[in-house]
Amino acid sequence: MTKMYINGEWTASISGKTRDIMNPFNQEIVATVAEGNEQDARAAIAAARTAFDDGPWRHTPANERGAIVAKIAALILRDKEELATLESLDTGKTIIESRGDMEDIASVFQYYAGLADKDQGEVLASPIPDSKSIAVREPVGVCGQITPWNYPLLQASWKLAPALVAGNTIVIKPSEITPLTTIKVTELIEEAGVPKGVVNLVLGKGSEVGHELAIHRDVDLISFTGGLETGRSIMQAASTNFKKIALELGGKNPNIVFADSDFDTAVDQALNAVYFHAGQVCSAGARLLVEDSIHDDFVEALVERVKRIKLGNGFDEGTESGPLISAEHREKVENYVAIGVKEGAMLRAGGKRPEDEALQNGFFYEPTIFTNCHSSMRIVQEEVFGPVLTVERFSTEEEVITLANNTIYGLAGAVWSNDIVKAERVAAALRMGTVWINDFHPYFAQAPWGGYKQSGIGRELGKTGLEEYTELKHVYQNTNPQPVGWFK
Ligand code: NAD
Repeated sequence: MTKMYINGEWTASISGKTRDIMNPFNQEIVATVAEGNEQDARAAIAAARTAFDDGPWRHTPANERGAIVAKIAALILRDKEELATLESLDTGKTIIESRGDMEDIASVFQYYAGLADKDQGEVLASPIPDSKSIAVREPVGVCGQITPWNYPLLQASWKLAPALVAGNTIVIKPSEITPLTTIKVTELIEEAGVPKGVVNLVLGKGSEVGHELAIHRDVDLISFTGGLETGRSIMQAASTNFKKIALELGGKNPNIVFADSDFDTAVDQALNAVYFHAGQVCSAGARLLVEDSIHDDFVEALVERVKRIKLGNGFDEGTESGPLISAEHREKVENYVAIGVKEGAMLRAGGKRPEDEALQNGFFYEPTIFTNCHSSMRIVQEEVFGPVLTVERFSTEEEVITLANNTIYGLAGAVWSNDIVKAERVAAALRMGTVWINDFHPYFAQAPWGGYKQSGIGRELGKTGLEEYTELKHVYQNTNPQPVGWFK
């Protein structure tokens, strides 16, 4: 359970280096895994290249590829409890959340298994007499896939499942701090009967393994989920051979509450929007915009509820939120809170580490609320990726649309109102890849996911998430060839 997987072999790193994987709840070492570098990445890319160019996978009938991907889904459900345990040990998230993640992950493999033999292209209406014209979908080739630590296996599933059914070969690199479920799922991929070289797993740092995947000329597509700055460096590296790029980046997602919404539901869901998984969610509703007339009552209700959020060991019953992922990440969050205070935002809850003795070995941070925020503040504009909520007020529909769109990001947002016509109007005006009306967070395999503006390029999930792993080829056939006679 601790090695890399290259060309169908479980292997240590070429350098022999390893890395300890830590549980962020108590800093205990839960596993020691191989730590690869550029050399290992190159070996994996070579295996994926050969498997694509010479192997059977892309010539395997699409329905058979789909059947193997469906088997992966079944194996994930069979080993759901083990996978969920590994995910919680690795990330600190509650076991209930991890179990939910595993259900979602299996549904992603199921969904793409079902699509495997559906869209193979189309017959085009050729305007030329005596001709046939078709557009066919083919795999892109060798795909590099780089995933983050917040939803390690979920993000991997969004990439692995469509790439596999489309007939590509893959080199995947999970976040170096949360590799355990990706290692385990690679075992299941092997068990499901995916041929050797089709899926290769390389563990190690982004600056070494990840960069090699992004820059290497034998990689045809790079799909990345992670932060803005890393995305920028991947985009630059990918220009070596103009590889296709798919980027799922960060967000600073507005949650808009009108006075005519259901007050209690909106309060409850505002908490869920931002504090779920300690705010370490790309689509977290970290930026709350509340209509003037209910602003003060709304904040009071939030402050009262936020104090009751139960932090703890993700494996304990009753724990509502786990720790942050690492000491460095908690420092980043603390630094942002200090910036918020300096900018003049008013700290209404949290803003510090919890004092509870039982939490001292974990990277915990109290759920935090800032009021008196305005859109020029860094704490409002930048992705904190922690349990920190900023609250702004607004008085008109036009004003809130301008405020909500005043961001470099465009991942997701929500509108709360019982005036559904108004809610739809606002949803239409938001420049975001996902807008929820009277809800927050739902996503599923059938719906596209991705960002406008600097939240990314391309879409995962849905049909588009499969199309990203295909090239479209036009095949034109003259059914009655004759000399053209142009050159006398
Ligand atoms: P990160 O950018 O630090 O790392 C993500 C991955 O990139 C890791 O595997 C890392 O090793 C690798 N990496 C780092 N430097 C690299 C380089 N120079 N070249 C190639 N690869 C490199 O992000 P993170 O801290 O792991 O995750 C948090 C970020 O991910 C947040 O910004 C969050 O919003 C974003 N995210 C976005 C989505 C989405 O769907 N849009 C989903 C989850 C997370």
